[in-house]
Amino acid sequence: MQALVFDGARVRYDPAYPDPCPPPGEALVRVTAAGICSTDLEILRGYMSFRGVLGHEFVGVVEAAPDPAWVGRRVVGEINAACGTCPTCRAGRPTHCPQRTTLGISGRDGAFARYLTLPLTNLHVAPEEVTDAAAIFTEPLAAALEVLQQVHLPPTARVAVLGAGRLGQLLARVLRLTGCELVVWARYPAQAARLRRLGVDVRESPDYPAAWADVVIEATGRPEGFMAARRLVCPRHLSWVDAGRSQRPGGGRGDPGRLALRSVPSCPAPAGERVGAGGGFDRCGVSSGCRRGRAGPRGATRDAQGVDPHAGPVRLGIA
Ligand SMILES: [Zn+2]
Ligand SMILES: [Zn+2]
Repeated sequence: MQALVFDGARVRYDPAYPDPCPPPGEALVRVTAAGICSTDLEILRGYMSFRGVLGHEFVGVVEAAPDPAWVGRRVVGEINAACGTCPTCRAGRPTHCPQRTTLGISGRDGAFARYLTLPLTNLHVAPEEVTDAAAIFTEPLAAALEVLQQVHLPPTARVAVLGAGRLGQLLARVLRLTGCELVVWARYPAQAARLRRLGVDVRESPDYPAAWADVVIEATGRPEGFMAARRLVCPRHLSWVDAGRSQRPGGGRGDPGRLALRSVPSCPAPAGERVGAGGGFDRCGVSSGCRRGRAGPRGATRDAQGVDPHAGPVRLGIA
């Protein structure tokens, strides 16, 4: 089959890459459209040391499956294939399975090819009214929706999104559905215009009000974004960091893990809820400090950079 293959040094077009043979439980999917993601570009810079067929955002048609009812259906797919038997999987966290493979990212050929294989359990039928061009956004849209699964956002919440690239655009579309008070900081006029057409409040100047936000979502992938997030967030409220993007090597990216740990010691949450416990994921919700009666007022003490030394806990999320 035709495929775009990364060999560790460059991407090459292979007109005769071997067709995949689906293992037990997996479907053979003929790819009809695939999206290029910044993760693909990071892989070219060494992310995950991946070798093989790139691509993880796709829509396609099932050509063969253990259950014949799937054959001929137009599908999108979850990209992580978990073992299903380890303690992490049995605890209901298959996307963190240490044995998992990830389509076009780790241990599994991806979507820039005629065919791919994925477990049947990973597939979702694409509704007829959703075009292929829209369906390939399912995976990044799911990453944006993940925020709402992790954080309860009441309509009274002030939410800041830093960055209006593709993930920022999707985040804004998801967050505005909650009715929260949303402000997006955009770097480029075209990004801002796209959001303003939807009625989103967009700021283009890097002028971040101190202690304004209950929740900050960092989607710039730039070190400055973390400092801006710390300035924006109310004392003991929540920054949700797009660690998946920003921890990748290359491009002088920041180190959100280190930044997060620096801001945690003053966090009032019990140790088990701090960043760093349980593989870097705390379990605090919005205003967790408030619910414990420990929240400071908006605009509480700040250091010279306007950063509240008690800001936090910082939550690391993977998009
Ligand atoms: Zn992606
Ligand atoms: Zn597992």
